[in-house]
Formats: sequence, C-alpha cells, structure tokens
Amino acid sequence: MPEGDTVRRSAGRLHQALAGRELTRAELRWPNLGAVQLAGRTVTEVLAYGKHILTRLAPATTDAPDGDVALTLHSHLRMDGSWRVAATGPSSWPHPNRPGVRAALANAEWTAVGMTLGMLDLVATAEESTLVGHLGPDILADDFADPASPWGITEAVRRLTTDPATAIGAALLDQRNLAGIGTFYMSEALFSKGISPWTPIGDVSDPVAVVDRARRMLATNVVRATPSTTGDLRNGQRQYVHARSGQPCRRCGIPVRVAMIEVHRRSPGQTAGIERTAFYCPRCQVGPTPTDDGRAQAPLGTSGGRGGSYRKG
Ligand SMILES: [Zn+2]
Repeated sequence: MPEGDTVRRSAGRLHQALAGRELTRAELRWPNLGAVQLAGRTVTEVLAYGKHILTRLAPATTDAPDGDVALTLHSHLRMDGSWRVAATGPSSWPHPNRPGVRAALANAEWTAVGMTLGMLDLVATAEESTLVGHLGPDILADDFADPASPWGITEAVRRLTTDPATAIGAALLDQRNLAGIGTFYMSEALFSKGISPWTPIGDVSDPVAVVDRARRMLATNVVRATPSTTGDLRNGQRQYVHARSGQPCRRCGIPVRVAMIEVHRRSPGQTAGIERTAFYCPRCQVGPTPTDDGRAQAPLGTSGGRGGSYRKG
C-alpha cells in the first residue's frame, strides 16, 4: 500500500505537470462525479497531506453553475492506486472502456490518469477540512521535526500517547495521531528501534525518537522510486522485516514473524478495529506479541505456511 513517501512523490509529479496550466480536458470516472465539468479551470497546486492528494483548481472563467468557487479534487491511492503522467498526444487520453481509470486530467502538455484510486471526492477548497481535517500532523511536512511547530512532532506525540495502553504499532498507524505512516514504515521503524509493535505506548521511553526514525525513513524515500529502509536497493534487500516473515532476521538470524495488530476506531458507535499486519523480529524487538499464535511461518509467496497468506499492505 502506498505510504506517505509514495503519495508525496506522486503529488510532486502531478504538481509539476498540472500546476499553473489550464485543463483542456477532464473526466472523472466515478459514481456521482461523471457529469462534472473541470475543463477550462486552471490547476493552482497539487499537494500531499499524509496519504491524501489534494489537486486544487481555480474558479472557472466561464459562468458555469458554481463556477466562481475554487475546487479541490481529493484522491487517495488506498491499496494499489496510482497517478500516471504522460506527455499529451494522440494516445495519451484513456479509452472510455479502459479498466481501472478513475480520473483523467489533461492540459496542452501533460495528461494525468488516476488508476484504481481508492477515493475520489470533489469539494470546495474552503471545505477541504471535511476530507482531511480529522488527520494529525503530516509526518513529511517541512516543519514537522521542529519541536516548536504547533502542528509538528510535539503535537503528534501528544496524540500518540493520549491513551498509554494503545499498542505503539496501532498508534503509529492511526492517521488521526499523525498522517503518513502505513504498515511498511511502522514495522521498519519499530524494528530499527528494537520495540515490539504491541508495546503499550505508555511503556515506550522515547516516543519522539521512534517518530523521528519513521520520519527519516519516509523522507529518504520521497526522492527515490524504490523504497528502502536498509539503504540497499537490491531486490529482497530493501527492508528489515516488512513482508519478510519466515526469512532470517538481518540482525540476529532467527525467522522474522508476522501477526495482526488492531487499529481502533474512535468514531462513536464503532467498537471494532481494523486489522493490519505487523512484521517483527521476536529477538531484536523487546515487548509483548499477544496476537502471534507462535506457529511456524513460511516465507511470503511460498505455500504451506500461515505467513504466506499475508499480502503486503
Ligand atoms: Zn532479529
């Protein structure tokens, strides 16, 4: 699943291709948005917030209904969505029957196509907070690491530690605490700090250091297409534990394990959480592992082991 680094890179590419240019053609292949007319509007900017992409559009120059309002097209890549950018040409516009196309935005130079997006919304820019206002500070924001920033690491750690009994892995995945970390960077940052994902966050001596490690890992990967937390870009060598269940830990050699971690929802009336995967080394990472049944796990992609049923996500 794309995490904050991938999303920020996608937003940067869209910004370069679209910002400051008028859309010559636009189509949203999404329920209730199919009739929306965006051609003629100029894209003012494209930015990332956590795992969300906001494409801002200036008011229309025509006198279309609601044309005097600046709009924001909000997209989320969810499991396997992407935005692809190509030079505008005879074959750059996606065929009406092409599967997976959710949005297409073209100007004279570039055409951006959103594939298998997990969310697509169009709101007045003044109402963006209805889409992203629930999120905590963006871990990749320029001033995030500044402890004096009112919307940075200090606020993120305050939110993370509000309930000291919450497992640190679940707290890091909850976008309401801080935005941008998914299962990949959660597992990798906690391995790097030697902390079990199920450790109650109240028992973690230095949560600031954990968040800072995750931020550095994400920031390093914003600028490269192949994420790596080990510094090694070779296939199969790019991460310490994520998606490596059943394979030897790079530090101590015992098999890496995977178990589910429950991220709680705080919305009223919702008690069930969302189960996410947490990969870890039982020797290098100190702390509880309550949801691990202890059975042998084969490497991902091989048959016969429970670990094989987990996909990267
Ligand atoms: Zn280990």
